[in-house]
Amino acid sequence: MKRTQVVIVGAGPAGLLLGQLLHREGIDTLLLERRSAEYVAGRIRAGVLEPGTVNVLEHAGVATRLHAEGLVHEGVEIGFRGRRHRIDLKALTGKSVTVYGQTEVTRDLMEARAAAGMLSVYEAEDVALHDVGGNTPRVSFRHQGVVHEVACDFIAGCDGFHGISRRSIPAESLSVSERVYPFGWLGVLADTPPAWHELIYANSEQGFALASMRSPTRVRCYVQCDLTERVEQWSDERFWAEFRLRLGGEIGARVPDAPSIEKSIAPLRSFVAEPLRFGRLFLAGDAAHIVPPTGAKGLNLAVSDVFYLSEALRDSYREVPGERAERALDAYSTRALRRIWRAERFSWWMTRQLHRFPGDAFDSRLQHTELEYLFESRAAQVSMAENYVGLPL
Ligand SMILES: Cc1cc2nc3c(=O)[nH]c(=O)nc-3n(C[C@H](O)[C@H](O)[C@H](O)COP(=O)(O)OP(=O)(O)OC[C@H]3O[C@@H](n4cnc5c(N)ncnc54)[C@H](O)[C@@H]3O)c2cc1C
Repeated sequence: MKRTQVVIVGAGPAGLLLGQLLHREGIDTLLLERRSAEYVAGRIRAGVLEPGTVNVLEHAGVATRLHAEGLVHEGVEIGFRGRRHRIDLKALTGKSVTVYGQTEVTRDLMEARAAAGMLSVYEAEDVALHDVGGNTPRVSFRHQGVVHEVACDFIAGCDGFHGISRRSIPAESLSVSERVYPFGWLGVLADTPPAWHELIYANSEQGFALASMRSPTRVRCYVQCDLTERVEQWSDERFWAEFRLRLGGEIGARVPDAPSIEKSIAPLRSFVAEPLRFGRLFLAGDAAHIVPPTGAKGLNLAVSDVFYLSEALRDSYREVPGERAERALDAYSTRALRRIWRAERFSWWMTRQLHRFPGDAFDSRLQHTELEYLFESRAAQVSMAENYVGLPL
């Protein structure tokens, strides 16, 4: 291939879904991914889908298995000082969330892309972007020892936080806001039926824990850990003992020592690079922003970004090149950033209320007061619930 309309860099959920949405608009794409298809399909990450995300996946034609296998949750629980408080998402907002692993979303999108005959190059090495600020954008890469260069109209940088797209924009054209948290999440995936019905976010004396699941037979559980710790220091027995302690109560007592099938430590970070457009290059998903996972927003934001981007590209192709087409393209950054910052605020707020922070008694009392207010005030619960199920797209 010497030319395509849109080159998409990165086959995470953002890149794969963008390709699918553009395909349905009759726009051609080439997808370039650094890793192998097997690696991408096996990567364990997020798992809570907002109703808006489910709608976009339906619109993209990839929601059949999601509806058959996804678990609909009408509430979440918050554990604090030995008690559990349920936030009734359905009663408070009329909406629920769907538990369906990012791995499954990825698999559905990869299958749809292959079935539609869209071109993807996995194990693309040395991907480099050229003339992104000018009129002849191109992408070069090496595959199986051969160097290729593809000309295009636009480049979608969907290559995650460590990708090359954001780094291809001159620093002076990008404004960066960042907060790094003084702890990480140690996550374990295990094949055992969950001892809980809905996700439990626990703020305990020992630190945060999250009881989550991916299916009726598979759990995904996390504990807040020190950033200096390494996965090898955490045997399965040590993890489950700590998790039981933090979860507490009769549910904690029912958690078995299930062997882990994946175990990893992820640092927590809030990050936004803006604007999301530089010339012919657009950033989407983790390439542009990171949220701490406490609000379950990372995957959902990747989906809303590419939904907006697909509309902007579609609208610009419908115009003759000129001012109106440029305005359609500019609309992407403005629309997406509004939603991104709201998710950043909510993810920061959830993180702030649920973790143990190094700080003084004042910080700690404020956290307790905030949680007590949440448990007692319907207005506070509505605010949390409407953010958790996701603000409208
Ligand atoms: C370890 C981890 C755990 C997470 N857990 C949760 C969670 O529990 N809950 C939650 O809500 N969110 C979680 N997230 C966040 C969520 O998974 C991400 O927000 C989501 O994956 C973003 O999708 P994306 O497509 O933008 O980026 P990614 O999924 O990161 O995809 C980017 C793709 O680009 C590829 N790439 C990178 N560089 C290049 C290059 N130079 N050339 C070509 N391709 C390249 C990568 O290999 C990758 O396939 C987690 C993230 C991580 C990293």
